[in-house]
Amino acid sequence: MNCKTCQNALPDLLLNPAVAEDSAVWGHIASCPACAQELATLQATLSLLDLWKAPEISPYFDQKLAVRLREAQDEPAAGWFERLKTRLQLNTGRRFRPALAGAMSLLLLVGGGSYGVVSFQHPQQVVQPSAAVKDLQLLDKNEQALQQMDQMLQEDAPAADADTPLPQS
Ligand SMILES: [Zn+2]
Repeated sequence: MNCKTCQNALPDLLLNPAVAEDSAVWGHIASCPACAQELATLQATLSLLDLWKAPEISPYFDQKLAVRLREAQDEPAAGWFERLKTRLQLNTGRRFRPALAGAMSLLLLVGGGSYGVVSFQHPQQVVQPSAAVKDLQLLDKNEQALQQMDQMLQEDAPAADADTPLPQS
């Protein structure tokens, strides 16, 4: 056992009970100050992580959601562009995904990043939402943008063996 193999085994020593009894690793740590120090650092990091708590959900989440739902119900029927957009966003079939990926890449190129994605979400604002739900909508936009990125990334993998040529850049 040298320092390299010992330090590679340290995370398992702390996280994997099956390895925690490994006497070769413990023997090296007992005789090597450098590896003992490494183990102490790792333990300190892990106990710091144990202190971390997931943030609480906002107490107003339910109310905001209810307001948002009422607003959505009161909105006038969506026009053809909104319906097409929704269909592109929600469609999980293979038929539209290459087109969506292409459109999103174009928007990313034209808009220079997230600006293109976000402006695509609300090209025409029919109803001005109340201030209370604007942050919710902002979260939604981020979520949708991330989902679209996911779809693009998922599309990239099978595209390598399909007849769709990869974009050259
Ligand atoms: Zn060592």
